[in-house]
Amino acid sequence: MEEGGRMRVEMGTGMRVEIGSDHRGYPLKARLSAWLRERGWEVNDHGCESAESCDYPEFAFRVARAVAASPGSLGVLMCGSGIGMSIAANKVRGVRAALCLTPRMATLSRQHNDANVLALGADLLPEAENLAILSAWLEAKFEGGRHERRVGMLAGGPSAGGAKPPAPDGGRAPAAGARPSGEEASMDPDCVFCRIVAGGIPADKVFEDEAVLAFRDIHPSAPAHVLLIPKAHIASLNELAPQHDALLGRLMRAAKEVAAREGIAGKGYRLVGNCGREAGQEVMHIHFHLLGGRPLGWPPG
Ligand code: 5GP
Ligand code: ZN
Repeated sequence: MEEGGRMRVEMGTGMRVEIGSDHRGYPLKARLSAWLRERGWEVNDHGCESAESCDYPEFAFRVARAVAASPGSLGVLMCGSGIGMSIAANKVRGVRAALCLTPRMATLSRQHNDANVLALGADLLPEAENLAILSAWLEAKFEGGRHERRVGMLAGGPSAGGAKPPAPDGGRAPAAGARPSGEEASMDPDCVFCRIVAGGIPADKVFEDEAVLAFRDIHPSAPAHVLLIPKAHIASLNELAPQHDALLGRLMRAAKEVAAREGIAGKGYRLVGNCGREAGQEVMHIHFHLLGGRPLGWPPG
C-alpha cells in the first residue's frame, strides 16, 4: 500500500477526489482527506462540516453530481455503514458507486465495474482497514474488454438496453447519434443544458424526475415559458433513436404536468421543438419550449 501511495505522489498531479460524508463518517473523512493530500491528490470536500447530525443523501448527491459532471473523476463517500451513501449516489446518472468492505472488493469494483464512487462504512471497520480499501481502489484500473460492454449496459438502465443484447458495435461508445441515455455516454461538459442538469449552472426548475428536467427559459417569450429537456445529452431531434422512445414519452407527460402546474392546461399551450439552424435551434441539447399564458398566433415564425 505504501509503495502505491508513494507512486501516487508522482502520478497524482491533476488528480482530484470528490469527497463527502455524513456526521458518522465525518472523522474518517478528515483522516482520508489528509491521507490523500499527503499523496498528492487534490481533495474537493463537499461536507459535512462537523460531527453534528445531518442527512447523508444531501452529501451523497453533491459528490455524485460532481463525479457525473466530470467523466473520469472519482468520488469517495462515507457514512456509518456506507449503505445509504451508495444507494443515494447510485441514483445519479453516470455514477457507479460501490460499497466496499475489503480491499479485494475495492479492486474488483474498479477492474470490472469501473466504479467511480467508493462508499465506505465508517462504523463497520477500523480506520486502517478503510484506508487500505481506499488505497486498493485508487490503485486499481478498469480492465475494459468484456466489462466494457457490461458497464455500457448499465448506462442506459433497463429501458435503454440494459436487458437487451449488446449493440453490434459493443454498446459503450456508439456513434454520437445512437448513444444510449446515461450520463457517461451522454453528458457533454460543454453543453449549457447538461451543465444545468449537473447543477453547474443555476436554473429556475419547475419539474424534475429521473430522466427529465424542466426549467424556466432565461429569456421568456410568453408569460409561461418553460424548457423541457431529457437529462441525457441528445443534440437534436435528428439524433433520436429507438431507445429514446420511452424517454420522449416521459418528456411529453412532463410537459402535461408542467402545463397543469403553470395553470395553463385548460386555456391552452404550445409545445415547440426547434431542430437545426433554420428553425433557430441555439442550444444543441434537445428541448421543447412550453409556451402559454397568452394567445399564440399561427403559423409561428
Ligand atoms: P432554441 O433556440 O435552441 O430552441 O432555444 C434555446 C432556449 O434556451 C432559448 O429560448 C434561450 O433563451 C434558452 N436558454 C439559453 N441558455 C439558457 C440558460 O442558461 N438558462 C435558461 N434557463 N435558458 C437558457
Ligand atoms: Zn447537453
